[in-house]
Amino acid sequence: MQPSGESITVCTVYENKRIAKDTISGRADLIYDVELEKKSDEYKKILESVPDWKDLEKILVSVESDACCFQILKKSKFLSVNQVGDILKIYSGKILLREAVIDKLERIAEQLYYETGLRLDVVYGYRPIKRQVDLFKQEMDKHVDKIPDENERKSFIHKIKFAVPEVVGHPIGAAVDVQIVKDEILIDFGTKIWDFVDVLTFSLFINEVAKSNRLLLRKYMMAE
Ligand SMILES: [Zn+2]
Repeated sequence: MQPSGESITVCTVYENKRIAKDTISGRADLIYDVELEKKSDEYKKILESVPDWKDLEKILVSVESDACCFQILKKSKFLSVNQVGDILKIYSGKILLREAVIDKLERIAEQLYYETGLRLDVVYGYRPIKRQVDLFKQEMDKHVDKIPDENERKSFIHKIKFAVPEVVGHPIGAAVDVQIVKDEILIDFGTKIWDFVDVLTFSLFINEVAKSNRLLLRKYMMAE
């Protein structure tokens, strides 16, 4: 198969399905601490209900896909752009995404704004595949004592922090990290984005307001 053919397959698979899948898990948005997993059996049950990386379709990330059709996400009346995290300096705050993903985000943001007066805040998009592989490996190494079985460790890290590189969305410009702001102030999600504390959408350890705000974000993201 030609590399360009692989990239086209990637676009089609991802743009149709992945935003919804990632939002179901909440993995991309709100995150966690290994100790929490041990706090209750109920939490474990929720963690088990999160789709495993093996259930997601494989994405063929290639060097070619890096060059494929990315655009810079622009802020608007409905949507703000405030990049956080590891690549802020590399891209000077610019968030790169596939055009179809940008279109979806714009529709979600407009709907959200008109129905609630709240604004979608996009904080992360494209990440180079090499960076993803490095981050995933670091996390694998960090938890080797607590979860010695490699497969179990891989699934666990995928669910609570960084996606397994074989199915990851950021390096093909097709995954986003998002939150919601009101008058430029973050609404209560129980944690801040990139806190990496308590990732699961249906967490038991957040208050009722935070729970309903997570569900609000989920509802709008799932609509596209
Ligand atoms: Zn993410």
